[in-house]
Amino acid sequence: MTTRRFFLLSGTALLGATVLDRFTRPGFAAETETFEVTKTEAEWKAILTDDQFRILRQEDTERPFTSALNNEKRKGVFQCAGCDLPVYASETKFDSGTGWPSFWDAIEGGIGTREDTSLFMTRVECHCHRCGGHFGHVFDDGPQPTGKRHCINGLALKFVPATAA
Ligand SMILES: [Zn+2]
Repeated sequence: MTTRRFFLLSGTALLGATVLDRFTRPGFAAETETFEVTKTEAEWKAILTDDQFRILRQEDTERPFTSALNNEKRKGVFQCAGCDLPVYASETKFDSGTGWPSFWDAIEGGIGTREDTSLFMTRVECHCHRCGGHFGHVFDDGPQPTGKRHCINGLALKFVPATAA
């Protein structure tokens, strides 16, 4: 009985330490992150569709296999649908089979990340570096060379095909 109680207490202490570590780790400061482009809710609603607004500004997720960008295979750049910042290049796009546009890397300076503990999971959320618009999540089961899978809402992006030189 004493032993069982000891282990229960140890487990609680361990959980406490893990939670503390999460909040004290450097870089976990999404709430204080500031963005170059900021707009009021009304201003965002004026330039985004309802679905885009729900995803970019309220972190909603589009239904899988609904984005035309899933099958986009042309060369070009994927920009943030909110502020036009180039965030993903066609060279890093791959077919993950998940139903969401997927990339193994972002354009340098394109995205920011933070830990997302919603839905009883710990995931890495990614968003536009310039306006903070939510894109999707980054997972560790992607292809080489990075091993990352950026699982992105197609509605959060706009594709700009490369122009023939
Ligand atoms: Zn943006």
